[in-house]
Amino acid sequence: MKAFLVSPGARVDLDKWDPGDTSAFPGINKEDGLVMLEAIRLRLRELQARLIAQRLHKVLILFQAMDAGGKDGAVRHVFQGLDPHGLSVVAFKAPTAAELEHDFLWRVHARVPGRGEITIFNRSHYEDVVAVRVRRLAPRDVWEKRFEHIVQFERLLADEGTLVLKFFLHIDAAEQKSRLEARLRDPSKQWKLQPSDLDDRAKWNDFIKAYEEALGRTSTAHAPWYVVPANKKWYRTVVVATIVREALERLKPEYPALPAGLTGVTGLTGVTGVTGVTGL
Ligand code: ATP
Ligand code: MG
Repeated sequence: MKAFLVSPGARVDLDKWDPGDTSAFPGINKEDGLVMLEAIRLRLRELQARLIAQRLHKVLILFQAMDAGGKDGAVRHVFQGLDPHGLSVVAFKAPTAAELEHDFLWRVHARVPGRGEITIFNRSHYEDVVAVRVRRLAPRDVWEKRFEHIVQFERLLADEGTLVLKFFLHIDAAEQKSRLEARLRDPSKQWKLQPSDLDDRAKWNDFIKAYEEALGRTSTAHAPWYVVPANKKWYRTVVVATIVREALERLKPEYPALPAGLTGVTGLTGVTGVTGVTGL
């Protein structure tokens, strides 16, 4: 999975990352991919059960992509079947008036995972150096400083016990065109479209440039970026699931031992006052 990792300090040229690539699993087609995925999900369930029981690690998994890049689908397909008790998904929309009264990390910090939790960010603080920059919602001297704030913020999370994984789902403009057109045609998908999506598409190159800079400046050992080829949905899902699984395996989550005070207890006695009762 190293092929997808953005090396810290690297200059990122997204032209060099093929969105249609499917070579990480040679000889595997969609059907095989879905079988693989089922096995990975089973293992993710076990790993998550241990995370919840152990209440030691915190896990933050963040997705960014161009519009229709497949964030919702990736979240749905990788994490389905996990225990909702230990899982939350936060979709960051355009900031509310109250959020705009605060610094850009205020709303983000409030939603990071606690011990034993997995939190998924569908969009994130990266909007504040990408969308904000491209749509000119803040001047350069405001968003420019944010790269360093983001690196330090993610370092804080990591230092305090959070595993941070960041995925950029990489599609090309032709794939976006066909997905947006499908949304236009399909009444069950039309709600996902906004007139502003067309404005954003017209700024495709500016978004790509902003992403290239963000990925290059904020991929760190403590919070790495992965660029995932995402034109093929099954492949994107298997790659993300594999990277998440490998990262959780490295945490080696364990079920805690029996709490002190219960060791040596091998069975329970009957409840006094109930023994001998045969009817009510
Ligand atoms: P899809 O990719 O499926 O269309 P989505 O993530 O685009 O889903 P929407 O509700 O369509 O969901 O859009 C959310 C919008 O909020 C995006 O256009 C995004 O750029 C914008 N947004 C999120 N955070 C910020 C931010 N901090 N500043 C400005 N805009 C933001
Ligand atoms: Mg959208």
